[in-house]
Amino acid sequence: MRWSEQSTLDAPGVVSVKGLLRTVRTPEFADMTFHEVLAKSALNKVPPASSMPFRWTVNPYRGCSHACVYCFARNTHRYLDLDTGADFDRQVVVKVNVAEVLAAQLAKPKWGREHVALGTNTDPYQRAEGRYGLMPGIITALVEHRTPFSILTKGTLLRRDLPLLARAAQEVPVDLSMSIAIYDEALQQAVEPGTPTTAARLATVRAAADLGFRVTVFLMPVLPYLTDSVEHLETALDSIARAGAARVVYGALHLRPGAREWYLEWIDREHPHLAPKYREMYARSAYAPNAYRQWLARRIDPLVAEHGLNARADEEYNPTRSRSNQTRARAQHDSEDAKALELRTQRAGSREDRNAAPTLF
Ligand code: SF4
Repeated sequence: MRWSEQSTLDAPGVVSVKGLLRTVRTPEFADMTFHEVLAKSALNKVPPASSMPFRWTVNPYRGCSHACVYCFARNTHRYLDLDTGADFDRQVVVKVNVAEVLAAQLAKPKWGREHVALGTNTDPYQRAEGRYGLMPGIITALVEHRTPFSILTKGTLLRRDLPLLARAAQEVPVDLSMSIAIYDEALQQAVEPGTPTTAARLATVRAAADLGFRVTVFLMPVLPYLTDSVEHLETALDSIARAGAARVVYGALHLRPGAREWYLEWIDREHPHLAPKYREMYARSAYAPNAYRQWLARRIDPLVAEHGLNARADEEYNPTRSRSNQTRARAQHDSEDAKALELRTQRAGSREDRNAAPTLF
């Protein structure tokens, strides 16, 4: 790290965030601005009304250089007086003391050692992690305080920490998931311009699987009319199975405020013929219509079964199911996988049905 070449911006109020230490730009991260803050708290409590299957999260970064056009976390940048588009991608808040604060919170007698989820808001292995290296301290704090945790990422930097995570999994349940939605190189770079390639992410899945992790791949969001063809889904599931993943979680695109404007602007620009269809699909809700989601399940589930994977729709996914160690996890999931496979196979419609065009939309 050539710290001498970085510049510190003396611009008070450049970002509206508590605990701001300094704002930094550096040649290694062109177009990026890092706002380094001292956080008072590392653990975020998920609101009780949330449907999330975990109660605690840790987010070392706000904003994300992976820059996915569909990212539902974009709206959170509004609270920093930054925009939900380019600012979200390029102006990243870094909680430089997150590991120390987390360790102090976990050491409190009242901490119940509940599951902690990482990567549910912004990506903990985005590019900034290569500079700040916050995750090893976070993982160490969680393990020292006997706290089970899960990580969801698109970042291949996860590989750096796999040995540490393998040791952690000897002590506490550790659930690893890689998000890989797009299996067409040009489309992937257009939709997720700051992410590692699909091939690099699949190689990371393989590296984790080789260490004994039962990795989940998030095949989501499935983009209507862009990545929901049988051909694309077959390529996806074949690649995922070959990479050694154990499970797939899939789900159709959500367009919440913040992501909605940014994504539809991208559709208008890149795929204008789809613009009316998208506006109709998402006219009444941030979620794809039920009929589309059911159609997608009928298309994906049989393909998943054919590839020997276990699948869950995103609303069914729960990373918090307790596992005391990798061996117990393997036995439990082998049993679950067998049951799920049987069910999926029974439910699978005919090939003609799943190959049919989505005429409902
Ligand atoms: S990797 Fe996740 S958090 Fe980052 S931009 Fe993409 S969807 Fe958002």
